[in-house]
Amino acid sequence: MIPATFDYQAAESVDHALDLLAGDGDAKLLAGGHSLIPALKLRLARPSLVVDIGRLRDLAYVRDNGTKIAIGALTRHKALRDDGLLQEHCPIVSTTAGMIGDPQVRHRGTIGGSLAHGDPASDLPAVMLALGAELVIRGGGGERVVPASQFFTGVFQTAVGPREMLTEIRVPKLAGSTGWAFLKFNRRAQDWATVAVAALVHRDNGGVAGASIALANMGATPLRATAAEDALAGGALPAAAADHMADGTEPPSDLAASAEFRAHLARVVGRRAIEEALSR
Ligand code: FAD
Repeated sequence: MIPATFDYQAAESVDHALDLLAGDGDAKLLAGGHSLIPALKLRLARPSLVVDIGRLRDLAYVRDNGTKIAIGALTRHKALRDDGLLQEHCPIVSTTAGMIGDPQVRHRGTIGGSLAHGDPASDLPAVMLALGAELVIRGGGGERVVPASQFFTGVFQTAVGPREMLTEIRVPKLAGSTGWAFLKFNRRAQDWATVAVAALVHRDNGGVAGASIALANMGATPLRATAAEDALAGGALPAAAADHMADGTEPPSDLAASAEFRAHLARVVGRRAIEEALSR
């Protein structure tokens, strides 16, 4: 398919990009293009203006920010995967980035694009939700910081407004007592997750003090598996806690899986994720 006609502008800075967005209520940012370009070609997106932010190198970074790690929105999946700071302090991010798509996708796709796209089947949104990440959004009126729990608002919908831009993502440094795992089930190696589970388990005196578990593709947004978290914190074994993994979810039915099969997968993949997290 050929996209509908649009104007194109390459932004030279974040301010320039915001100015361009402010001047056209129907504009769209282009980062890695791995979600936007297919949407343009299928005419699912028909912006009047495409603002290319792919050259804003000063938004591609991973920095030590004290207790947190700050990640620029234009950081590509491959750079996340290879980053030593993330590998040391928040390895669930680098490991997950290495599981996205194929090398071509990882060389082009950005963390900002992946989060702002708001696809509930994507991997990094679930990881950000489990981590309790903070997302920095800039607009004409300045900057605001939104917790991941309030960022994803619906299928392909986020807290980023039409004249705003996601600029930075802040993730916590994980304590040595926190085990982690990201597991996804897909039918072909490079597919999006049929279901994925991001699990963080906080250990204390040989037991489990708490857990933070998020699910991909089990509803309109990434979801916390709160019933399973509560069960684990209450002393349940992984298998018993994982029985609650799909509680309160509304998984979709599509060609990859029915809603019932997704609920089953969440329980199976969830148990494995908890066990893997406890083994780290
Ligand atoms: P773009 O396509 O450029 O933009 C996506 C959307 O986000 C657009 O609406 C754009 O306007 C908006 N946007 C981009 N950046 C910003 C910003 N900074 N602020 C505000 N809005 C912004 N993803 C997975 O999670 N797991 C997979 O296994 C996976 N497999 C894939 C396989 C293939 C073959 C392809 C093509 C993609 C796959 N993806 C997968 C998606 C991939 O991770 C995309 O790169 C990502 O979803 C979008 O990032 P992008 O930088 O390409 O964004």
